[in-house]
Amino acid sequence: MAKQGVPLMRERICAGEGNCCKNLYLVLQLADIRRICRHTGLHPRKFVRLFALGEFEEEDHEEDAVVQLKSRQCIMGTRRRRGWCLFFNGHGCDVYPFKPLHCDIYPVDYQYVGGRTLIKHHREKWCHARFGGLIPVTKYLELGERCDREQARTQRFVDRWNRLSGGRGTAAEFFDYLAQEVGWRSEDRRRAGNCDV
Ligand code: SF4
Repeated sequence: MAKQGVPLMRERICAGEGNCCKNLYLVLQLADIRRICRHTGLHPRKFVRLFALGEFEEEDHEEDAVVQLKSRQCIMGTRRRRGWCLFFNGHGCDVYPFKPLHCDIYPVDYQYVGGRTLIKHHREKWCHARFGGLIPVTKYLELGERCDREQARTQRFVDRWNRLSGGRGTAAEFFDYLAQEVGWRSEDRRRAGNCDV
């Protein structure tokens, strides 16, 4: 499967049913939080939840940045409402044009084995994404590289917090630190009045 030397693979086309928004817990990267804050005016604490390790089912957290708080260790993810992602309104995503990177990538996932990148397709029974035509594999590789870069940035930010707080910070202090990092300003609250979360 190669055309002019570029390997091809079948594209995955989302069925648009929102089943991943209902079923999956979503880890957020710093760039996701910054983008959502900028577009909605929401303070990070309104949509970021600090999940205790182990709250995400069937997940190892090797690649996720672990925030150290006085009371627990946690991962940044989207808050849930009625068991769904907070931004899922029953028909679609309220932040679709600037949704988190992991939502863009799903249902594709990556594994790094012996210096090679394996692109995998998730096959949960509730996901009805279909296979489309052949596309250059570079599309998915570029998304994977972007994901790696964003994870590395998030890790550096969280490392800084962990170092400065010495593992004795509270959730409220962490959210203040996060809001400062993503450039949230109190006047952004006015815009948040338009956002339905
Ligand atoms: S942010 Fe949007 S696309 Fe992503 S899980 Fe939530 S509702 Fe779905």
